[in-house]
Parts: sequence; structure tokens; C-alpha cells
Amino acid sequence: MRPEILFPLFAPSSSLKGVGPKIAPLVDKLAGPLVRDLIFLAPQSLVHRALTTVSAAEEGQTGTFLVSIDAHFGSARPGQPYRIRTFDGTGFLTLAWFKGGGQHMVQQHPVGARRVVSGRLERFGGELQMAHPDYLLAEDQAEKIPQEEPIYAATAGLPARTVRRLALEALARAPELPEWQDPAWLARERFPAWRQALERLHAPTSQADLSLDAPHRRRLAYDELFAHQLALAQRKAARRVHAAPAIPPSPLADKVEAALPFRLTGAQARAISEIRSDLASAERMSRLLQGDVGAGKTVVALLAMADVAAAGYQSALMAPTEILARQHFETLAGPLRAQGLTPVLLTGRDKGAGRAEKLRALIGGEAAVAVGTHALFQDDVAFRALALAVIDEQHRFGVSERQRLQEMGRSTHLLAMSATPIPRTLELTVYGDLDVSRLDEKPPGRKPVATRAVPMPRQAEVVARLAEAVNTGAQAFWICPLVAESELSDLAAAELRWADLRKTIGPGVGLVHGRLSAGEKDAVMSDFVDGRLSVLVATTVVEVGVDVPNASIMVIEQAERFGLAQLHQLRGRVGRGSRESSCVLLYDPPLSQAGQARLDVLRRTDDGFVIAEKDLELRGGGDPLGLKQSGFPAYRLADPIAHRDLIAAAADDARLVLGRDPSLASARGQAVRILQALFDWRASGPINDAG
Ligand code: ADP
Ligand code: MG
Repeated sequence: MRPEILFPLFAPSSSLKGVGPKIAPLVDKLAGPLVRDLIFLAPQSLVHRALTTVSAAEEGQTGTFLVSIDAHFGSARPGQPYRIRTFDGTGFLTLAWFKGGGQHMVQQHPVGARRVVSGRLERFGGELQMAHPDYLLAEDQAEKIPQEEPIYAATAGLPARTVRRLALEALARAPELPEWQDPAWLARERFPAWRQALERLHAPTSQADLSLDAPHRRRLAYDELFAHQLALAQRKAARRVHAAPAIPPSPLADKVEAALPFRLTGAQARAISEIRSDLASAERMSRLLQGDVGAGKTVVALLAMADVAAAGYQSALMAPTEILARQHFETLAGPLRAQGLTPVLLTGRDKGAGRAEKLRALIGGEAAVAVGTHALFQDDVAFRALALAVIDEQHRFGVSERQRLQEMGRSTHLLAMSATPIPRTLELTVYGDLDVSRLDEKPPGRKPVATRAVPMPRQAEVVARLAEAVNTGAQAFWICPLVAESELSDLAAAELRWADLRKTIGPGVGLVHGRLSAGEKDAVMSDFVDGRLSVLVATTVVEVGVDVPNASIMVIEQAERFGLAQLHQLRGRVGRGSRESSCVLLYDPPLSQAGQARLDVLRRTDDGFVIAEKDLELRGGGDPLGLKQSGFPAYRLADPIAHRDLIAAAADDARLVLGRDPSLASARGQAVRILQALFDWRASGPINDAG
């Protein structure tokens, strides 16, 4: 229930003066549907409108002038502006209107009248001119012109000035709210009170006020981060309330481990022991296993599944595509069967009697492990005693699939796996409601992938080398980016490349892209995995976890357009076999300095976590890591990079507050509830939405 004190802020923006049915959708698009959304809209820049004189003014500046009207000049032909010449005692200033000028101007601004005018100056044929002045007022109205005017984002039909007026009107409706932050923390950080911080946000007087580092801005960002962390912590606690079977570490899993052809890396051993301690407690596990492509996540899941089987329960492993599901099945089936356990593979391909047989094994409990695609979510699939759900490449599952997964078992332990390395600083915002294990160490013996950047004009050399390598049995990926406005023209580019490579290399070149159906994609991928194709041209749909050990060459076109983390992931698809492998980053010259720096990072390191941190540093804005897609929240005032030092503090504080006062009943708790209602967090983590 929303606290009454917030009602004015949760009124629709159409309750503001001047927001009719035409403007409302524009406001909605720019800020959101509510009055609240406008108060959180920060100005982007600041214009100084200092009073000056024509002789002292320069083009490009914005200035305010006290003038008298000297003469009117109507537009002689279309395209020519209506002009008014003015004089301020030091020189002439021409005001010009390409639209909206006309004879009525003569009455409005008669010759000799005194006016105050403000706007941006330009030079036009030796004359100082102001096109479409921002303000043109009678002299006695001068105080209506702000000395410092914050400029807001605008959109067609909704000029920045209107946005400002609405933001200020919205702000006027913002009540004083009880303080929800710890006073000692506020004092230490020199944070102003909430209402004061907002006022400052909308009335900046200097560049420093606009900075993300300004105390008022940090205060507002902290509020938002704190509200989010509270929501995540509450969700985590709520999930824990459901009991799940306590599953002790088992000798069976030790046998599976002992039978592996390799020893676990230190990171794998750590991850499995973290998982085991979750499983052994009777609380429901919600853990994310994060690790680069090739870090060895599958075997960690395998050992957890063995523990679950030894305790008499079942596990399900879900993969986003059929081909991945099959690969997982092939990996897991041997070790499981060797210990007398039965795995089944269930995908969309299973039909009729074969499928019925598998379903029986699941409901009857003979099958200890199910591996599959979303076919595992079908209504008629039931387990006798499901205790562990493992989701591979969890970010690739849709929202509804995640929800069904949650519904599969309220008492099911959850292990999500992801190959998208999130920088540690951001981990809390993305996965704050999960416990995280990191595989930050690769299995030994991996050869680094020789990486080089090659300008596009030398592409022919790359193709020639590729043809040679293919002749000796190598396999290669060729990635075409999705960059154009239209997916169709990108597709056309990929098709062109495919046709091109077929000419030089022959019929063993395949094409896979996002417009193919899942079945078609799987078919092309299988041809590649099984070696019937030697080169796979792909838009970026290449299955993240697919194992093609023989693939040793990765060519990425227009590499400068990809995020670092994405390039790293693509590169991770080669270098798994015995061949020397290489990655060619084709770029359109000239490369910007930043572009150069980014490609250099890839050449220097192979560690996904390091690369993710670097990506953050080098890009510093926007959505560098494709975080939105991985469930990253869209903050209004907090900038996860600029304010990253506040994230951990907000998380600690949230834990502390909820630890002391889980039902938020204390005075501070009551205030905290208001904060939570103010931000109204709903959308958040990837698999974490449902209870
Ligand atoms: P991920 O799912 O993390 O991308 P996989 O689980 O597919 O990685 O493992 C990649 C490859 O590494 C597999 O062939 C697997 O058998 C192998 N592998 C896993 N752990 C180790 C290890 N500790 N030592 C050697 N090889 C390993
Ligand atoms: Mg994998």
C-alpha cells in the first residue's frame, strides 16, 4: 500500500498544468507517466544568460540584452526570415524568425519600444543575429529571465523549456518526507535532505552542480541504490523462507569427481563447496555460478547433481537451445551412468512413445537427472522429487520461462549459470538477490588465443589465410555484427559475406542468423559441430556455450562496434581444442583512440572479469556490457559507474536495516517504506522475479 504522503507524486503527469492529451504521451515518453517521474528528471546542461552588451558579445554565446526596437523587415520571399533590428547603444542586434514572424510583430514590438531579449548569438553576414530568441519581453519583465537556466532533455513537440516548467511544477508538489537515511551517514557524506537535494537538482547554478559527484546528486543516487538493495535483500529473504530438502555431501559425488579425467581447479572446488553448504542447509539455495566460457561450469553442476541423486532426489538442467542441451547430456551421461544413475534428455524433438517413456522415468523417479530445453517446462512434465534446478546461460531465458521455472518447485534449489562476467563492483546491483560463486580460474593447459586487429582493407589476406587453414581441416567462425537500423540490411550484409566466402572457400560455408527458426538454427549449428561445415558465418546469435573443439579461428567483422565483453565471449568459442587458435578483429579504419585501447585490452588479457572491469572504465556510460539485457536495473538518478562506490554501502545498509527491523516497523523503518514506495522497484534481476 502506498503511503498517503506520496499521493501527489503518484498523480498522473496529466494533472500538471498544460499537460493535455497531446502533451501527455510526450511527457510519458520522456520521463514517465507520473508527477514523480518528472521530479527525477535531471537537467542536462546549464545556460548562462548574463546581461551583456552587443559590443561585448560573441557569436556562439548565449546572452541577455536590453534593446530598443529599431526596424521590422518582413520576409521578402519564402525561406527568408522575418527580422527585427534592435539597438542597445553599443551596436545592432538582429532578431530573426523563420516561423511565426509576421505583421502582428509590428504591433507587439513597435519601433522605439524597450525590450529585454535573450538567446544564442550567431553571426550572419557580418551582423550579430539571434534566431528565435528564447525570451523577448518588455523591459519590466526582465526578472522572468533566469540568470542560469537548466536545460532539460526535449523531444519533438515538447521543448526543453516546457519540460523545465513541468519539472518545477512537479517539484512544487513534492512534500517534505521523513528522513530514511542514517543521520550519521548523511553527515559524513555531507548529503542534504531529500527535498533539498531535489531542489538543488532542478536549480543548478554551476557546472559542479550538474556533476554526478555533487553531494545532492549522490544523495539522490544513494536513495535509489538503497531502495533497490532493500528490494533485493527482501526478495532473497522471502525466497529463503521456503524450505528445501537438506542435501548432504555424498560419497557418490566424490566417486564422480575421482573418475573425472582431470582435477578440479581451485575455483571449481571453491564453487562446489559453496554450493554444498547451501544444499546442506535446509534453506532453499539461490546461487549464481559465474564464469567465462570454458571455465568448467558444467562439472560443478554435475557434482551438485550427484549429491542430490545420492540423497534420493532429482535434478533438472535447462539449456536455452536444443544443441546445448544435447551437448550437456553427452557430457553428463557418461559420468552419471558410471555411478548407476540414469539421465534423460528431453527436448522439443521428443514425441510420442519415446517421450512418454522419458516422462514416466521422471515421474517414477528412475531418472535422477533430466537435461533439456524449455521442453522441460511443459505442463505434462512432472518429477517425483525434484530438488535442484540448474539453468545454463540463464540470461537467455525469457521472462515467462523464468517464471515457470520458479513455479516448478517452491522447494527446489536453484543454481543459475552465466558466462557473462559482471564486474565485481556491479555484481550487487545485478545479482543482489543471489549468492554468487565465481570461476575466476581456467582449467590448466589452455593455449591463449592469438589475437590481432586487422584493418578491413586487408580483409582479402585474412580470407586467403582462412582458406588455407580450412584446407588443413580447421574450422572457423565468421561473425558479422548487427549494427544497422534495420535487421534486414544486416542480414543482407551477412548473406553477402556468406556468398563471398563460398566463392573463395567452397560449399562448406554455412550461415546462421536471428531470423532462422530455432530448429533451422540448430540444424546449421549441428552441421558445424559435426564438421560438415568448415566455416560458419553468423550474426551474433552464435550459441554462447556451444562446444566446437575443432573450431580454432574466430573472425569478427567491425569488431570496433562490439562491447569488449561481447568480443571476449565470442573469442572464448575458439581455443578449446588442440590446434593453435587465433582471433582476428577486423575493423574499419581509422580506429579512434578509445577503439584502439579497447582492442588492445583483448590482445593483452584473456580474463573475462578483468575485461569486464576494463570495459566499464573505457566506456564509462551507456550500456557497455549489455547489462540491461542481463537484468540490470534502469536507474533514474544513480549511475552505476559514477556511483559505484555507493553500491556496496547501500547493500550493507539495506542488510543492516532489515536485520534489525525485518518488518520495517521502527521509525526509520516507516520512513524506509516511504522510500521504497517512492521508487517502486519491480523489474530487476534475471531469474529473481518470482517469490
Ligand atoms: P563452461 O560451461 O564454463 O563454458 P565447460 O563446462 O563446457 O565450460 O567446460 C569446458 C571444457 O573444460 C570441457 O571440455 C570440460 O571437460 C573441461 N574442463 C572442465 N574442468 C576442467 C578441469 N578442472 N581441468 C581440465 N579440463 C576441465
Ligand atoms: Mg557451459
